[in-house]
Amino acid sequence: MPDFDVIVRAENDLGISDGKFVAVGANLRGTAREELDATTMSIFPGVIDAHVHFNEPGRTDWEGFEAGSGAAAAGGTTTVFEMPLNAHPPTIDTSSFVDFGLWGGLVPGNLKELQTLRERGVVGLKAFMCDSGTDDFPRATMSILREGMKRAADLDLLVALHAESHELTQELAKEKIAKGQTTVRDYLDSRPVAAELDAIKQAIDLAAETNCRLHVVHVSCGSAVALIAEARAKGIDVSCETCPHYLVFTDEDMERLGAVAKCAPPLRSDSERKLLHERLSDITTIGSDHSPSPWSMKDRQNFFEVWGGISGCQHLLALLLDSSIVRERIVDLTSRQVGRRFRLRQKGEIAVGTDADFTIVDPAAEETVSADSLRYRHRHSPYVGRKLRGRVVRTILRGQTIYHDGKLAAQPIGRFVRPRP
Ligand code: ZN
Repeated sequence: MPDFDVIVRAENDLGISDGKFVAVGANLRGTAREELDATTMSIFPGVIDAHVHFNEPGRTDWEGFEAGSGAAAAGGTTTVFEMPLNAHPPTIDTSSFVDFGLWGGLVPGNLKELQTLRERGVVGLKAFMCDSGTDDFPRATMSILREGMKRAADLDLLVALHAESHELTQELAKEKIAKGQTTVRDYLDSRPVAAELDAIKQAIDLAAETNCRLHVVHVSCGSAVALIAEARAKGIDVSCETCPHYLVFTDEDMERLGAVAKCAPPLRSDSERKLLHERLSDITTIGSDHSPSPWSMKDRQNFFEVWGGISGCQHLLALLLDSSIVRERIVDLTSRQVGRRFRLRQKGEIAVGTDADFTIVDPAAEETVSADSLRYRHRHSPYVGRKLRGRVVRTILRGQTIYHDGKLAAQPIGRFVRPRP
């Protein structure tokens, strides 16, 4: 009997048995069925991307789990949280290359269902403070949010919010459209930083009032992170996520790139982007907010009518590796703190007893992102043409290789994961 299923030789060797790390340390002794040499490579815990939209079931023609999870695996991700979905998880776990959790929705009229969502093991509830872009996911008004967050607090469920002021964004957009002002810049002007800050202030007040655990998703600017840090210092249980696109792009990039880079909140000025970098230690998680669509939904003259969503889950880790500012905080932001915030106790760390989820990266390899290399159903992304330093060579989920040197495993092995209080 070999001592391990797999030994990875690296700065710290990893001994793996039955899908878990069973030994971690320099120069592990023992035999293994498989030995991997990663002595010239960097090893990271598998990325937990807590924010993807694979749109399954319902809109698999936009992406689907098979394509989306394959792209995630190729990027070093081992777990994703699909947002939001009210379906039964078993419909998916035959086609996902990575482990997956599910968000539930908090929408008008579904308060009674929150308990059931909890029993089914959702990682939290997602709500919109402004229009979501689809009619089947209506926004939560302040009174619905208050009731929902009270109920969520009783159920010990975390609530994730898309925080932009409905009143302000709606009013500004209406004004612009009425005047026929529909360029990228008009769109940017209709969703100012103030709209995000207003909504976050309201959300924080509600969290304080209801004692609900709050997570503000895709925070776009440093001043918003500052607000959240201030609230946390007062003892309010609030955390936040940002996304790679807010760290690498500015509003001028949105003007240059057009539809492929449309997102909400929008890309910000360079000074807000720099402030976001300075505030990294106050950010809890980085998620891709991978939000794909067929190109036809992007192909509009009027920028307000362009589908808002960036395809990016495949390059989450590589984009962060490429930035010297973010690199040293990658483990916290993409795995350790994600596992902790969402109570996924078996994931997020390379430590004895946790799931053997990790990724092997060649830190010196350079790659220019091409449309051909995208594994999305629709091969568009604002990162096409971008040169990245640091390439994912192999991704391992529960001790099994799910991606290696450009190829996915023959069979997807992703499983449903749920928080453990
Ligand atoms: Zn999203």
